[in-house]
Parts: sequence; structure tokens; C-alpha cells
Amino acid sequence: MPKLQNTFSWSPSRHRMFDSCKRQYYYNYYGSWGGWYRDADPEIQLLYRLKKITTIPQLVGTVVHEAISNALKALQSGRDVPPQTVETYARKLFDQNLQDSEQQRYLHSASKYTNLFEHYYKESFTEADQANAADRIAENLDAFFTSKPHSILQTTLPEHYLSIEKLTSFSLANTKLWVTLDVAVRHKGSIYVFDWKTGKEREADRHQLAVYALYATTEWGIPLSDLQLQDVYLQVDTISTVDLTPDDLDQTRTFVTESAASMRGLLDDPEQNTASQDTFPMTDNTHTCTTCPFKAVCHPNQNPTDQPTTQQEPVQLSLF
Ligand code: SF4
Repeated sequence: MPKLQNTFSWSPSRHRMFDSCKRQYYYNYYGSWGGWYRDADPEIQLLYRLKKITTIPQLVGTVVHEAISNALKALQSGRDVPPQTVETYARKLFDQNLQDSEQQRYLHSASKYTNLFEHYYKESFTEADQANAADRIAENLDAFFTSKPHSILQTTLPEHYLSIEKLTSFSLANTKLWVTLDVAVRHKGSIYVFDWKTGKEREADRHQLAVYALYATTEWGIPLSDLQLQDVYLQVDTISTVDLTPDDLDQTRTFVTESAASMRGLLDDPEQNTASQDTFPMTDNTHTCTTCPFKAVCHPNQNPTDQPTTQQEPVQLSLF
């Protein structure tokens, strides 16, 4: 089989990483490329293994998203799966991922098996922490099943589902943008886009929905005024409706275009999407390094926080 080509694309998370640490961005999108091939250089395989590291809070989010996505796909096909069944599935999935990480199955396939930051970097993660994480999954699913969005989705006709957690892309200013809408449905003359959140509210959440709005207006031809964009914070059981104006969408387009241009500006060859590590400096903000999956490469012999630092807070995505 021909080897995959590394083509340039843009996403909000890619922008955040580019802003946070150029070296992390390089490792994640260029240095680790091809690390899944068994004949790849061991250093590239290591970078790919580190790139695939996830944290317990991220795993909680992944499990909750997968459980909800499966429940909605069943709902769309006419089966209303009881909440208890969904929760049991989610707990099993979480336990399986923990075991995979503990037993280092990722050494056989980093893309298939979970590698937890807490295990890899030997951070404290007790049985009580494990039970708390499992409880959080149950709480998030309870909040989903008792939410207003769930009652809307329960009464939505199968043909009115537009997307359930489907990775898709669209083009903006010659750049491919990847998006995964958690769920989008037609309901009473509007298009509802719900984004499940298992963490705290962040300003970046609004920007992510602005990118989804660009997708819906561009690819589905839906007027902005027909869109209902909602961040659903399951852990705290609140919903944030994001109202966007045409100006907001214009600003988002400009933001994406400028961000992609900055990223391309550091490439050796933007046409071929090739890059050299030396062009992507390590951050001075060693606070960022403490939670970075690549710290084993950048700081192999020491705790990054022991090093001098010039900043303390990671840079946040800032838009309108
Ligand atoms: S460990 Fe620090 S310098 Fe290295 S990639 Fe991560 S954030 Fe950047």
C-alpha cells in the first residue's frame, strides 16, 4: 500500500497547540508522522506513541462521547436504549481502556490502545481517583439523559438527523478544516447543533461552535439565523446557547485564514507540507511542559518545572 501523505489542514485544537508551543506542534503534526509504520525510525515511533497519550479527564470525555454517540445512533434507528445499559457500556469501556494502558498494549499499537499520561509519567492515580473518574462518567450520562437536548433528540425523526459524531471536512481559503459535530438535527424549523462538554466552560468552546457554524452554512447551505448552537456542559448540567452574527462568522474566517498562514509560514515547503524541527522552538513556559505528552523527549532527565520559566499561563485561543 502507498504510504499516507501528510497534507496540511486546520482545526481549533491545532491552532491552540501552535500558540502554546511550536515544538509540541512540530512533534504532533510533523515529527511523529508515519510513526505507526513498523519500519519507521524508532524516534518517530516514540513521538507517535507520545502524541497518542491521553489523560484521565480526556478519557472520561472520550468515553462519554462514545456512549452518547452510540445511544443516538441506536435512537436514530428506532431503539431507545435505557440509560442504565448505556452507563454499563461506558463503565466497561473505561475499565478496558485503563487495563490497556496499565498493560502497555499501546506498545503493540499506539493508535488502537490507550496510553494514559498518568501511567506513562507515573503520576499519582489511586483506586479512589479511578472510582471518581467512573462516577464522573455516570454523572455526565445522567445529565445527558435528563437534559432538554435529549428530549429534543428523542422526538427527532430519523431522517432529521444530519450528523452524529462524524468526522468530516470542508474548505476555507484553500485550507482543509476538519470538524466533528457531536450531533446536528432538524427540529421545529431550526437546525440544532449540540456539543457535549465534560469539562469546564472555556472561551474556546464558543470559537469551536463558530467553526461548526461556518461548516453548516457553507456545506449544508443553512442560513445562520436558522442555527441553534449549544454547548451542553454535562458535568455542571448547564447549557450555553451561542448566538453568532454574520460579523462573527467573517471574523472567524479571517482568524482561520491568518492562523493557517502563520502555520504555513514556518514550513520548509508549504506546497509539500514539510517542516524542520529547528524552525519550531521549545516554549519558555515550562508550566506548559508539565502536562505535555512530549516532555519525555524535551526534558528526559528532569522535572520541567525545575527550569526557569518566563510565563505561567498557557496562551488561549482568542477570537471575537
Ligand atoms: S515538553 Fe515543553 S517544550 Fe517540549 S514540546 Fe512539550 S510544551 Fe513544548
